[in-house]
Amino acid sequence: MPKTKLKIIPLGGLGEIGKNMMVLEYGDDIIVIDAGLMFPEEEMLGIDLVLPDISYLVEKKEKIRGIFITHGHEDHIGALRYLLSQLSAPVYSTKLTNGLIRVKLKEGKVLEGAQLHIIPPGGEVTVASFRVEFYPVCHSIPDAVGLIIHTPVGILVHSGDFKLDYTPVSGEPTDLSRLAQVGAQGVLLLLADSTYAEIPGYTPSEKVVGESLDRIMSEASGRVIVTTFSSLISRIQQVIDAAAKHERRVFIVGRSMTNTVRMALELGYLDAPDGILGRIDEIRGLPQDKIVLVTTGSQGEPTSALVRMANRDHRHVNIQRGDTIILSATPIPGNESLVNRTVDSLFKQGARVIYQKLAHVHVHGHASQEELKLLLTLVKPKFFVPIHGEYRHLSLHGKLAESIGVPKENIFLLEDGNVLELNAQAAKITGKVDSGHVYVDGLSVGDVDGVVLRNRRMLSKDGMVVVIIAVNRQTGKVVGRPDIVTRGFVDTREFQSMIDKSRDLLAKTLDHSGSRPAEWSFINTKVRDTLDKYYDEQTKRRPMILPFMVKV
Ligand SMILES: [Zn+2]
Ligand SMILES: [Zn+2]
Repeated sequence: MPKTKLKIIPLGGLGEIGKNMMVLEYGDDIIVIDAGLMFPEEEMLGIDLVLPDISYLVEKKEKIRGIFITHGHEDHIGALRYLLSQLSAPVYSTKLTNGLIRVKLKEGKVLEGAQLHIIPPGGEVTVASFRVEFYPVCHSIPDAVGLIIHTPVGILVHSGDFKLDYTPVSGEPTDLSRLAQVGAQGVLLLLADSTYAEIPGYTPSEKVVGESLDRIMSEASGRVIVTTFSSLISRIQQVIDAAAKHERRVFIVGRSMTNTVRMALELGYLDAPDGILGRIDEIRGLPQDKIVLVTTGSQGEPTSALVRMANRDHRHVNIQRGDTIILSATPIPGNESLVNRTVDSLFKQGARVIYQKLAHVHVHGHASQEELKLLLTLVKPKFFVPIHGEYRHLSLHGKLAESIGVPKENIFLLEDGNVLELNAQAAKITGKVDSGHVYVDGLSVGDVDGVVLRNRRMLSKDGMVVVIIAVNRQTGKVVGRPDIVTRGFVDTREFQSMIDKSRDLLAKTLDHSGSRPAEWSFINTKVRDTLDKYYDEQTKRRPMILPFMVKV
């Protein structure tokens, strides 16, 4: 029996939705599974992207033997360009995922020199102490895989994102027979997707969406505008299929959507009859009921084509009476109010808007409870770590594992940064490494304009307040009274006493956070809320508030 233990270290995706990243470390060998980003929440004003903290990997960069990517969604590939700008390691993925990675790396100008390898679903590769097998899974993007990882201490299964759609629109169903086989061989640890662990029963098949699209297109008398994520390639296929049936032409709008569709067509993951796809400038003169537009904006992103169309700010298309708009995605948690605002504005302009609450225009790409139980039953792991989800999802998934007979003490609810060490007999949480959020402001080329404009709008109206909060390096607690610097907000001489009062108010508010170490996201929100309210009361102005933490 080898003495060395295997370390499992999640750097993202556990305790949150997004920025998935898992580190496996055995002796001198490290492999990384997925490198995703998270979309910022609404109040992270001016923040473009949120990435995992990779300082642990940068410290050990000469030990990294490979990066394995399960599928091409942003929350699994989006941080790769930042990761590869700081360290170099071969990247292994399936063909479509590889194509999507190339698009991203090219945008980030790190494609050159990247070592990208294609492994087909069902294929395998050995790097250092790890033999990694790619097994097909069904998800909302073709060419998605889970990983069966043979290590010196035992076999691990990493589910990736998956569901058990027996009639998938593109790609293969999840390979249950292979999972049953390794289950019979004995699996030491299962890491499985928890995103929909709250939802009872089975996730409906993607086919359901095709039926809805078909019906909506046959009923619509005007243009149909479908918004979704550019990575939901199976969804785009269904839009093309429905459009073809109703003799409508399809126009892809927006840079990321166009790039993805072109790449998927070239690689053969999208299939479009000749002449159905048109260039946006060909739209003029076509009858309204012969038009389908596909674009991004399902999340109400201020810079997306849909929002610009809704604000009459788009070069080619404005929303008009008679349009039918389909939001073929559900809001990412945190985006609800943005999405609602967009829907309201579309209704106001006389469009008909169809979203998940009104018709089956979206299905989830993740397994619900009965599917999760089936996976657990087939794999029969000795140890279980739920991944991909907020704490309640992980916790509920843990309960499901218990219900099918995994002993409670063998189920580990890890959070980002936790180190789980295991060998063939035992597993234990032994420590914590740096993890957390890294914010990217304005680096993603396509969004710079929007962010800059949004900030300028705010600054020009009500100015800016910078709050400097000192935090004790050892205890993590807030020290003293925060400092406040303002620009373009109020005359500081005249309002000195108000500024002073707001410092007292902050000191008092932050003190309430009690004896536990200050959590930055909490402080951040608290500071913004407190000052926003106070200044609004005092001055009827709402300056941009920027809290900064200084470790002392
Ligand atoms: Zn996914
Ligand atoms: Zn995901």
